[in-house]
Amino acid sequence: MKVPMLDLHAQYEPMLDAIRSRMEKVFQNHHYIMGEEVHELEAKMEAYLGIKHAIGCASGTDALVLAIKALDIHEDDEVITTPFTFFATASSIWRNHAKPVFVDICPKTFNIDASKIEAAITPRTKAIMPVHLFGQCADMPAIMEIARKHKLKVIEDNAQGIGSTFDGQMSCSFGDIGTLSFFPSKNLGAMGDAGMCLTNDDELAKSLRQLRVHGENPKYFHKCVGLNSRLDTLQAAVLLVKLDYLADWSESRRKNAAYYNQQLKDVQQVITPYIAANAVSIYNQYTLICEERDALQKHLQSKEIGCAVYYPLPLHLQECFSSLGYQKGDMPISESYAGKVLSLPIYPEISQEMQDYVVKSIKEFYA
Ligand SMILES: *Cc1c(COP(=O)(O)O)cnc(C)c1O
Repeated sequence: MKVPMLDLHAQYEPMLDAIRSRMEKVFQNHHYIMGEEVHELEAKMEAYLGIKHAIGCASGTDALVLAIKALDIHEDDEVITTPFTFFATASSIWRNHAKPVFVDICPKTFNIDASKIEAAITPRTKAIMPVHLFGQCADMPAIMEIARKHKLKVIEDNAQGIGSTFDGQMSCSFGDIGTLSFFPSKNLGAMGDAGMCLTNDDELAKSLRQLRVHGENPKYFHKCVGLNSRLDTLQAAVLLVKLDYLADWSESRRKNAAYYNQQLKDVQQVITPYIAANAVSIYNQYTLICEERDALQKHLQSKEIGCAVYYPLPLHLQECFSSLGYQKGDMPISESYAGKVLSLPIYPEISQEMQDYVVKSIKEFYA
């Protein structure tokens, strides 16, 4: 048997015809930039998430860069975030000439530890940027309380958590701006790069719409310097078809996670993902904390089972950020987990036989 990390063939099969006809419509009017489908997708996403404004852009990374610009965060400002995330979370801060300030993660959820945030606040702190890692919403009520007390902005990096909730509230709706990525391996993936900003604030929505077109308003008149960062009309056409499947996919991922949890509960050498009682995860990843991680990964790979390490080096120890002055030992939980985490295939189309094979191979390794 062979179990890939993700199976895009299986994912696209039931909808390729619908995507082709959606694309055909674009070929009829050739509005490749900011075509009708982009506005249609934005409206559909606003309805799906229950957030007032959706602003499409070129990638999840750009969504973060745009969010930071819209909140007027710049040189000498500090943004508190997690070191246990994809690189773009911190690089978006850096690229706006602001300083990422890292706070270690909660050992259970992999998300930023809200109880450690206040100690990292300085007079220069402008914002907190939590990440809803692996599809589980961070403890947003606690983070928002700190933000309100210290008058800080909040950007939710929700590249991995579309549709996840905390206390029944939708991710991306807690902070000032939330961001999404439609990278092909995210739960809702395009056929290329695409991203989005979400906000309930009318003024911020206006700035974001302006910033994605070079900061112009009206056309060819610039009060500020923005980006060239639009969501392609063709990608919007793809996403419009796929969005109808998203709720079912999230349900399947939760079902698959529950099955792994059940089947792995007696394996002493692994800890299955912890989801807070008041959180609903969309399981972009199903991530174990395990003993002898590297050897287990090699074993699973030899059995043709896709598995991956997210992430092998926390961001505070990345070479490009060495001038920030962090040392090994500064973020002990993130550093320890970088050597222990392993994500298993959890995509909606995986069969129970495939999951059984993954579980059997893990048990075989530890036996
Ligand atoms: C994928 C991802 C991004 C970046 O998204 P792109 O669309 O690839 O630019 C940002 N943050 C996190 C946490 C991600 O997982």
